[in-house]
Amino acid sequence: SFADFDQATIAAIATPPGAGGIGIIRISGSRAREILLQLFRPARGEVASGRSHQLRYGWIVEPESGRPLDEVMAVYMAAPATYTREDVVEIHGHGGYVVLREILGLILAREGVRAAEAGEFTKRAFLNGRIDLTRAEAVLDVLNAGTREGLNLAMSQLQGGLQQQLEPVRRALLEVLAVVEVAIDFPDEDAEIIDTAALGRRLELEVRQPLQELLERADRGRIFREGATVVILGRPNVGKSSLLNALLQDERAIVTAIPGTTRDTIEECLNIHGMPLRIVDTAGIRETTEEVEGIGIERSRRRVAEADLVLLLVEAGSEPSSEDMALFDSVREKKVLVVVNKLDLLGDASPAAAEAALAAWRHRFPGRELTGISARARVGLEQLEDLVFRLISGDEPRDPGYACVPNARHRAALARTLPALERVQQGLAAGLAPELLAVELQACLGSLGEIIGEVGSEELLDTIFSSFCIGK
Ligand code: GDP
Ligand code: ZN
Repeated sequence: SFADFDQATIAAIATPPGAGGIGIIRISGSRAREILLQLFRPARGEVASGRSHQLRYGWIVEPESGRPLDEVMAVYMAAPATYTREDVVEIHGHGGYVVLREILGLILAREGVRAAEAGEFTKRAFLNGRIDLTRAEAVLDVLNAGTREGLNLAMSQLQGGLQQQLEPVRRALLEVLAVVEVAIDFPDEDAEIIDTAALGRRLELEVRQPLQELLERADRGRIFREGATVVILGRPNVGKSSLLNALLQDERAIVTAIPGTTRDTIEECLNIHGMPLRIVDTAGIRETTEEVEGIGIERSRRRVAEADLVLLLVEAGSEPSSEDMALFDSVREKKVLVVVNKLDLLGDASPAAAEAALAAWRHRFPGRELTGISARARVGLEQLEDLVFRLISGDEPRDPGYACVPNARHRAALARTLPALERVQQGLAAGLAPELLAVELQACLGSLGEIIGEVGSEELLDTIFSSFCIGK
């Protein structure tokens, strides 16, 4: 349905801006080879005598003046064994951005070539049928993966994991639809054609259950893909900032600090067992009448509301205060890990003394996970990290080795499929007319088709591919 896309030859710098060891320019389309013939002078032999997929050494030469611009390696790759399934040329030049821009300028001055838009090479791979939409998106995920696990997930999707899992579901729906359509064509016999019980079983086992499972997996996978938010909550001076610093120093794999932190919340990134985490230190959520402080507190509350896990920090050796309990009350609905800090302040350093101190707190937070630490003495941090990981991932294995995980777009489409499916299932049970069943079945197939890009709109494609960078 997208076959009539713009067929212009496209070109872009494929490597990121800034000076690097090498920089690559990529050209895709029917004029790619001709452009190479015009601009490339190999060190040995003629350009035209080169074989496909053969990297050759030489110079990019300005055709009008004969002036060499850069010493390069160039390769021509004949369709269809290429990234886009079109003719592709790559020019590997010295990494300087100025040189690359000049070469690109020369290319774009040729006839029938234009600058590639963001993600357009990958979009062509999709439009030319080399990859389905889930794989195209995986390309983006591979580029953006923040951790090793995130990368593994993206790679398995790139290999077609999601599409492979959806295929049997789609086939089952199609087969059910076929039966229903026969019933439409032979109305007198539809009672015999539609074996309601058998079709219902099929829909349940081969469609609803696998889709439900995928949807649940999407929620867990989101955490590895996008990271989870952990909020540290506690009254002033319990050691929130100290805990954040201790976690950051303890963790060798700090990913990045998030810019734009505000006075009221401080946010850092780290990863625990491959799970990217945003840790937010709320500067304290207190009731206040002061307007300015109120704004900051509002922001803290929002961070708490979107947290995947709240660390409620309290102090060993002190009695639970009404402020502690009020904070706990405010996060009753969330996943909470109670962290008892300043264990080092207990006069007695024995494990039994620590356990007694924890027991008193445990009593106040029945049914909640609880652990003791000393942020200052760096005690108990490893156990704290294990608990954080376990509580967020919900006991998933460390390496989420499942074939692949749907992203937010897939999730939305899956979430649309399930109610339509439910209407089919109920309709079957209630003896709904086959015409109406067919409509609902088509709706299910439609939203599944959106996931792999079988049906969809130009707008959807633009949304997906515009989040790529130029040159991909
Ligand atoms: P926040 O207001 O909750 O961020 O608390 P801070 O992290 O600023 O800590 C308040 C005070 O408690 C500081 O003087 C810290 O040095 C101290 N503190 C933090 N953690 C510990 C700990 O584990 N043991 C002891 N003895 N003091 C701590
Ligand atoms: Zn603080």
